[in-house]
Amino acid sequence: VDIKKDSNPMHIIHITAEMAPIAKVGGLGDVVTGLARACLSRGHTVDIMLPFYECIQKQQIKDLELVTTYNSYHDGNWIPTNAYHGLVSGISVIFIEPSNQFFKGQNLYGGSYNELEAYLFFSRASLEWMQVTGAQPDIIHVHEWQTGALPLLYWDMYHYLSLKKPRLVLTIHNMEHYGECTKEQLSKSGLDGFTYATIEKAVDDRTIGHNPERLSLLKGGIVYSNAVVTVSPTYLKETLCTGWLASTLIRNRDKYFGILNGIDTAMWNPATDIFLPAKFNAQNPEGKKLCKYYVQRGLGLASEGILDGNHVLDMTHKVPLVVCITRLVPQKGLHLISHAIKRVEELGAQMVILGKTSDGRVEREFEGLAKLHNQGPSIRILLMFSEELSHMLYAAADIVLVPSMYEPCGLAQMIGMRYGAVPVVRKTGGLADTVFDMDDQSNHEMANGFVFEGIDGGSLDSALNRALAHYRQKPDEWNGIVQKVLELDNSWNNTAGKYIEVYNSVRVRL
Ligand code: ADP
Repeated sequence: VDIKKDSNPMHIIHITAEMAPIAKVGGLGDVVTGLARACLSRGHTVDIMLPFYECIQKQQIKDLELVTTYNSYHDGNWIPTNAYHGLVSGISVIFIEPSNQFFKGQNLYGGSYNELEAYLFFSRASLEWMQVTGAQPDIIHVHEWQTGALPLLYWDMYHYLSLKKPRLVLTIHNMEHYGECTKEQLSKSGLDGFTYATIEKAVDDRTIGHNPERLSLLKGGIVYSNAVVTVSPTYLKETLCTGWLASTLIRNRDKYFGILNGIDTAMWNPATDIFLPAKFNAQNPEGKKLCKYYVQRGLGLASEGILDGNHVLDMTHKVPLVVCITRLVPQKGLHLISHAIKRVEELGAQMVILGKTSDGRVEREFEGLAKLHNQGPSIRILLMFSEELSHMLYAAADIVLVPSMYEPCGLAQMIGMRYGAVPVVRKTGGLADTVFDMDDQSNHEMANGFVFEGIDGGSLDSALNRALAHYRQKPDEWNGIVQKVLELDNSWNNTAGKYIEVYNSVRVRL
């Protein structure tokens, strides 16, 4: 696709805890990579700064080289630090590697070091690197609580040193994690933590459980950034009404924007996806059947298809495959996911869950379900993180299920649609902005899936039953929906422009 270049190109540096595909746990990683690529193709200069996690697979980084050796402050010491540069799927990345224990371990999160202090260090070390190297981007784009202290460090420290030009944009991907922090911990970054313990600045001012001793890095980030973005218009409205940060967001309403995430259509492209046994797209959807057939065969599920050369003859259109790919956390509607397993089995359909949890109790619950179902012909519960399998499953799926309790934006439903899976979702946050019910007579043009509102099993059933009935009884109409979702454009091309507008509204023109 030919993408129009923006006038007035800018230099944008993202500072983030995740970047897909090398350091990804959830949607944050996808969003950073997708937005960065979209801005690059519009003619801007983009870098991403990332902790050099020990678990990053170095062979996925191209042209990796050490570029700067410097010291960055933490808790009374100057920590020797290395900055490396490399390319990750064509995007310039700077990796920050302190010589202490921070970011060591087998996983991105949950190492044996103090996570909050590690990200405080990373926030300061990123600014220190700019100071040392003389980088003056137009925009420093921070994400989530992990880099929430960076705007404080910028305005109250580095702006008095040599960083003059950059302006700060914060994207909040999920309001639930707000970076709880003591004054003493914040002081380890070199700021005076006590001066931030006010309602106007960073104190955690929940009415219930209010604790003047406690700060929130996310709140500090909201107050100190030039613009704050969250990841869908509906989630923006929800966050102004509920949650203890609502009052802070209302006070900062003028600089608070809701911009729907896009998906990275280079990474998520069924026409070129290297993980798929057969490629497909809206013009040529046949390959999808082969993907379903291979997944069914590969996982030992019953298949009604018959392989004829490179084609699959789909005899009856009776066994829809539902997939659910998710972090297994309460936000994602765990009780509805386990309810769906039962329901799908009763209805003679198939379901594959690809889910990862770091909570022992949830792990045991789903292991129990896996034991119960994984030997049968219709349900597979896979408790792991696998980028490769996720591509295969989206491609194989007839239905992608996203029954979240709340969902700031949600990528699974958009990726699913790009791979021709019809979404069944709960109406909340970004799901409400991207999926529209087939039976909603007032909005037929947008209709692309099945939606429910309640948080109980019965509500989910009402949408799932309709979806399955539709699949079985109206195959031609069903293929029409598949065609429609394959043609939808949920790419960053559509929404990156809104970020550029926000950048332009805060940048300094010298
Ligand atoms: P969140 O950011 O809350 O995790 P999103 O829907 O915004 O939710 O993004 C989730 C991203 O992570 C998607 O790209 C999804 O495919 C991926 N993902 C989630 N769980 C897994 C898993 N177990 N294996 C592979 N990919 C996963």
